This record gives sequence, structure tokens and C-alpha cells, in this order.
Amino acid sequence: MRITSIQVGQLSLPLAHPFKTALRTVDRLEDIVVRVVGENGAEGFGEAPPTAVITGDTKGSILCAIQDFIAPAILGMDLMDLEAVMKRLNSCMVHNTTPKAAVDMALYDLWAKTQGKPLYQLLGNARTSFETDITISVNPVEEMVKDSLEAVGRGFTTLKIKVGKDGAAADVGRIAAIREAVGPHVKLRVDANQGWTAAQSVAIIKAMEDKGLGIELVEQPVPALDIAGLKFVTGQVDTPILADEAVFSPEDAANIIAIHAADYINIKLMKTGGIWNALKICELARQHKVKCMIGCMLESQISVAAAAHLCAGQEIIAMADLDGPSLCASDPFPGGPVFDGPTITMSDDPGVGVQFSTQWA
Ligand code: MG
Repeated sequence: MRITSIQVGQLSLPLAHPFKTALRTVDRLEDIVVRVVGENGAEGFGEAPPTAVITGDTKGSILCAIQDFIAPAILGMDLMDLEAVMKRLNSCMVHNTTPKAAVDMALYDLWAKTQGKPLYQLLGNARTSFETDITISVNPVEEMVKDSLEAVGRGFTTLKIKVGKDGAAADVGRIAAIREAVGPHVKLRVDANQGWTAAQSVAIIKAMEDKGLGIELVEQPVPALDIAGLKFVTGQVDTPILADEAVFSPEDAANIIAIHAADYINIKLMKTGGIWNALKICELARQHKVKCMIGCMLESQISVAAAAHLCAGQEIIAMADLDGPSLCASDPFPGGPVFDGPTITMSDDPGVGVQFSTQWA
């Protein structure tokens, strides 16, 4: 089944509320979308969020990578030889994980549709539904408490709290106020997005432990490249540490696991370059019994649905942070996994299943 066409388009969706982390503030999702068409006429869709502060990918770089490098490299290849296509996709240029991810998921969508099966059933078929957490943006503490209570009111039982934006001093107070407001039964994950030094991380996490705040995990406390710092923090505290920005590739994951620089790994398709490499991280994690989370950037249903299929396929992905669709003001596309508050339920639609149309170029 030859790949006959690869086209790009644009997607713009308002968010329900501005999204604020230690790295950025965003109030609209502005992504590049991809359509891959096979000789059987079936279509596969992908999405690429330009998250320059994390991946380095911009709208312009994503368009250029797909149109000038990726499409010429794989057009005309037989998609049923998935390994050959994926190897070509990954070797046609270095880095550029976001455009690679968008094309990779569109290829997987088309590949599974051609076999008439939902993608997750071809990726391991581990579960048919699961729960995601929801992000609480970093803001003045009263606003974070209000947002947390609202999320709990919407049925979310796990909150991912963003901290690390304006110095470390206020962060313990933020988390304590949220814990007091939501009570003991809501799971709290803390994401510093590289906002602390190693020494600050240890001090803050130990303070949270001493206060008995019951934090499930702390995500990427230190800068991505500070692997020694990450390992130091992991060794000094009892709270599990999750590596996010520090792990893009399977090789990154192997290094982190080899020296136990973190307890868990956050897999995001936009960092791995798609499902093909994410499956390699899952395999490595399974061998070493390292629990994984599946996360997303600011993405709509199109690409979050692909991540949901990976999560539903892979047992080792025991935690989900797939709140992109929940953060959008609406869910405009039919088909694929159903995003209902905290619950994501897989559907029987073939492929990834999300149907989408726009102006294609
Ligand atoms: Mg993170």
C-alpha cells in the first residue's frame, strides 16, 4: 500500500483558560496538521504543536521539515513495510521530533485503518479506558486553589500542578494550599518544568514530605540537561521523580534508566518523534520495570488521540497526562477515543479514528 500524498494544513483552537507553566503562557492552540493518503484512498491524520521552548520546533520549521525533507523521503514507499518507512522517516533529518511525530502518527493511523482495526489493538491492546490528570496552571495561589476545586468538581481525581515559575520560595505554600482545599483523596502531581536547581528541589520536596502533603511524584525539577542534578534529587528524596524534558529519545531513556537519574519516564510523542520511538522506550521501561507516563503538549484531539492509543496499547504506561482536549474550549472533531472529563475511552473506529478536514496544501 503505497503512500501517495502528504499534505499540511493549519489548526487554530481557543483554550478554555490561558495555559501557564514555568516556560510560557498560551491562550490559543495553533498547530500544524498533516494528512497522509494511501493508494487505497484511505487517509491518516497527524498534528504538530510548535512548542519551541521544549522541542525547538516552530511553525515554520515544522512546515519546512515535512514539505522539504520528510515527504520527499517517504512518498511512494510501501506502508505495509512499516519498519522501512519508519527508519526512513527517522533518518531523513536529525532532531525535528515534532514534525516527525505528526507524520508518524498519520502513518500509524493509515496503517491501522488499512488493517481495519483500532490502532491500540495493534500496539498491544492493554486496556480500553483509562483516566487522565488535568493541569493546574501556575498562578497566584488563590487562583490555583479555585482552578483545583473546579477540576475536582469536573470529576478529575488527579491534578498536575505547575510550579517553578517565579522562584522556589512560594511553591511549597501553593501545594499546601491546594492540598488543604481538595482534601486527602485527590492525587497531586507537581511539575516544575525545569524551574528549580537541584538544591532547591531537594529542599522543596523534603519540605513537602515533612508537611505530609502526599505528593504522588515530582516532574522534571531541574533543567533538562542537568542529568547529574536530576540523579542527585532522585537519590535525596522519597517522592518519586519523573523525567520529562530530560527524555526525548530511546537513547535518553536508556541513559536515565542506566544511572537511575529518575524513577519514572514521561513519554510524549512530540519528544520521541512519534509512536515508533515511543514503543522502543516502552520496551526498555518494561525490561527495567520503570513506570511510564504518557503526556502531551498543547494539542487537540487529533494527536492526543494517537497518544491515547499508545497508552491503551501499552501496559507499562500506567499514568496519563492527556488533558489537551480538556483544556480546549471545545472538542470539534468526531471519531476516535472519547474524552469525557477525566475518562478516556477507546472506540472501535479503525486507525486513530479522529476525522478531520481543513484546507490542505
Ligand atoms: Mg512536564
